[in-house]
Amino acid sequence: MATKKKISKVQILRIIIQILFFIILPGLYAASFAGIKTIYQGLMQGTFDFSQDFPSLIGALSIIPITLLLGRFFCGWMCAFGALGDWLHLLGSKVFRIKYNIKPEIDKYLKYIKFCVLILLVLFVWNFDWNLDIANPWNAFGVLSTVTKLPDVAYAMQYFAFGTILLLFIIIGSLFIERLFCRYLCPLGAVFALVSKLSIFKIKKPLDKCQSCRLCTKKCSMGIPLYNYDKVTSGECIQCFKCVSNCPKKNANITVLGNELNPAFAGALAITAMTGLYCAGNLMTDVVTASAGTGTYLTGSAISQTENGQYADGTYEGTGTGFRGATTKVSVTVENGYITNIEAISYGDDAPYFNRAFNSVTESIIDSQSTDVDAVSGATYSSNGIMDAVSDALQNTAVSVTSSAISSTTESTTTQAVDSINSNSSTSAYTDGTYTGTGTGFRRGTTTVSVTVSGGLITDIEVVSYQDDAPYFNRAYNTVISEIMETQSTNVDAVSGATFSSNGIMDAVADALN
Ligand code: SF4
Ligand code: SF4
Repeated sequence: MATKKKISKVQILRIIIQILFFIILPGLYAASFAGIKTIYQGLMQGTFDFSQDFPSLIGALSIIPITLLLGRFFCGWMCAFGALGDWLHLLGSKVFRIKYNIKPEIDKYLKYIKFCVLILLVLFVWNFDWNLDIANPWNAFGVLSTVTKLPDVAYAMQYFAFGTILLLFIIIGSLFIERLFCRYLCPLGAVFALVSKLSIFKIKKPLDKCQSCRLCTKKCSMGIPLYNYDKVTSGECIQCFKCVSNCPKKNANITVLGNELNPAFAGALAITAMTGLYCAGNLMTDVVTASAGTGTYLTGSAISQTENGQYADGTYEGTGTGFRGATTKVSVTVENGYITNIEAISYGDDAPYFNRAFNSVTESIIDSQSTDVDAVSGATYSSNGIMDAVSDALQNTAVSVTSSAISSTTESTTTQAVDSINSNSSTSAYTDGTYTGTGTGFRRGTTTVSVTVSGGLITDIEVVSYQDDAPYFNRAYNTVISEIMETQSTNVDAVSGATFSSNGIMDAVADALN
């Protein structure tokens, strides 16, 4: 009687890690791909600024360098979509007894489809910034892959109709073909297939010991014809180590620079490195956000008043262009011919970067009485937006908004976009007070905000709680809130790639104002 083969330790470890990442970070593949897109678009449009873009690059920066160095451990061990492929195939082969193999001569051509998908995405979707969310199976999977409640298919169909249908085909196909999506369709897998070619971890399996055995080929998750190779150099290898675990002769081994390595150790090392980078990146972002977001700054540094000032007295408003074309609006006060105060009315840049630039740039402008000052390193676009806006205000000296005196040292403590809004504005639309409202974010999670109205205008929005994934929520948060305050309306654009979080915030603010 044939004995049942025991599952190896490395495969048990891999399954545990897959389950953990499926629960904790199911959207990491989408975040990584979005990071690659941000880098590409930033470079193509000449707007790439590492420090400003950093929060949206964390996923990609944690995974790509490790993939380059060690191989596709992300695909084999961490990716939720890849794990789904593994589990569906297990279901198909063990429960439904489905056995289907694509012939190697066809398989080798089908593998190029994912490179075509990547090229089409880059050429048409990224270059023209088309929004194909509705057709994205990853988005549908993001909505449906919840472990805390039943998958909401109606919701996925409503927002990602084509993506959900595509996901259904992928699910059915994965019952028949192991890792169907990874092998033939995944654009991120195409990127990894290219970068992992240089990895120092390689599977070695001297052919002379294999003889007629083809077990590793039969077990390979990605259908690599291993019987042809002594050493696996294919970018298709996802470091699942099924070949190593199943070799009855212990002939297949993972090696680093020619030396054999324990596969469980290799997996643990790669996963720890990627997770460590991911946590460090998020921690850095949180620290920067917290220090900038809760800081106080002085506006309106007083200068000595002489008779030699060059500007007409008054308070003037001007606009400039900040990060990614966002509008920065400032109010500049001139007394005795000198710039004595600059206040931010609104901006569309990310708050941490804007706040970092604002103090330094406005102080320099007031000190030098010139808008030609140094940009703050790491916040260049925000700095330039502020300088532009002040220049614009000074050119608008004929359009005096108010000539009322201002205090020379106004302490601003708000954590959000508007530091001071003219309380006499005729656009006042709301009753003063602080209101709480809720909205529906990603996967129907609840977003709760507190909105402060002063002088009839929205002057501050603070998030009380949210249930969306932090990277997406944070991506949406600064931009949406800044725009709501700038336009004094909740009908603003959602942030691309964080649509649900954006909508949740808008809903919550609208609810508070109601
Ligand atoms: S190929 Fe794509 S879907 Fe498959 S594991 Fe890799 S990133 Fe995930
Ligand atoms: S070659 Fe081995 S480690 Fe690579 S995908 Fe195939 S079975 Fe997994």
